[in-house]
Amino acid sequence: MILFDNTRIFDGSGAPPFLGQVLVDQNRIAAVARDGETTLSRADARVVDARGATLMPGMTEAHAHLSWPSSVERFVPGMELPPEDLLLNTARNARILLDHGFTSAYSAGALGKTIEMSLKAQIDGGGMPGPRLIPSSIEREPPNESIYLASGKVADHGTGPEAIREFIKECAASGAKVVKFLLSGESALKPGASLQLLYTEEEIRAAGIQARESNVWLTGHAHAAEAIKMGIRHGFRVLYHCTYADDEAIDMLAERKADIFVAPTLGIVQATLDAKPPPHIDMSHMKADAAMVLERQRTLGPILKSRGVRLLPGGDYGFPFNPNGRNARDLELFVRHLGFTPTEALVAATRLGGEIMGMGEELGRIEAGFLADLLLVEGDPTEDITLLQNAGNLLAIMKDGKFHKPPAATVLA
Ligand SMILES: [Zn+2]
Repeated sequence: MILFDNTRIFDGSGAPPFLGQVLVDQNRIAAVARDGETTLSRADARVVDARGATLMPGMTEAHAHLSWPSSVERFVPGMELPPEDLLLNTARNARILLDHGFTSAYSAGALGKTIEMSLKAQIDGGGMPGPRLIPSSIEREPPNESIYLASGKVADHGTGPEAIREFIKECAASGAKVVKFLLSGESALKPGASLQLLYTEEEIRAAGIQARESNVWLTGHAHAAEAIKMGIRHGFRVLYHCTYADDEAIDMLAERKADIFVAPTLGIVQATLDAKPPPHIDMSHMKADAAMVLERQRTLGPILKSRGVRLLPGGDYGFPFNPNGRNARDLELFVRHLGFTPTEALVAATRLGGEIMGMGEELGRIEAGFLADLLLVEGDPTEDITLLQNAGNLLAIMKDGKFHKPPAATVLA
């Protein structure tokens, strides 16, 4: 047993932090002492004296691309790697997310068909560090000339409802839990594409039917209002971006708020605006698009929040200018752009994170019976959300009751 003593607890509920103790037994939280009480038994427990540091639930990345190459540890100029390198790099990125406080990751697509299933099996089997993972296959777009997924295209993609159903069956058979479709395109890469639908209603209806039959979840890359609506009509569980949601799309999202999650995906947008590319790389078009997207999101975010739609941090990390490991910056962007308080951003990354993982009853909060995915943070992230961006402030990282990063010997009483 491990007892976190003398700690300020942010429990994920949204309530202000309180002083107390947390007892971990095996992989679960056994008890929480609140409001300064010190009633939990120290007997048989290894005691961590937190010295006022904040204990909070581990975070969830809602738009994870573990196989996208770049990370804070390794700059990769393009998106393509030889298969062996891709595989090892993906495993390394899994460890990097955990190092930066992300104990869960909801995949938004991989650059290989079964990489994430193998990775998940290795992580869950023990011995390989990484977050809890909802694995995905290659994200799917219809046959076209796009450069977006150049290294990740499925070889045998086709068009029409039957081809879609086959693709979903194949993903499910290989162990994917989530299948992602690009419902509309991406203007950052192809001007105007964000407003174009990439699938027909019949195709997406078929996707919805097959996903239910195959017991997988659907995720949509959806900027266009009609793409959002199509996704909602056919049971998509997660929608990314939602940039050009109109009033009808907003109403539909609000109506289905109990079943749907939205990740606005601000990380990549902010990174595009901030990027200072070398002279031979022209990002002017991407920057213009990002400025437009951000303006829309700054209007839309507060509306969706006020309507009770669950917005989660997660920001397409893995590009050279938006590397894996920088994921906690999305929380700051929620505060800076979407009208969230730091506490609300933390709730989105923790409690809502547990919910998007499909484990809301046992993950994402500090409460007796919940899984022990915990971060011990120097300082108070409800006061300063940017603290989480510095891995040095994470004094300890625990996943499933085991320390990935143990606290320094000095805090072990
Ligand atoms: Zn993405």
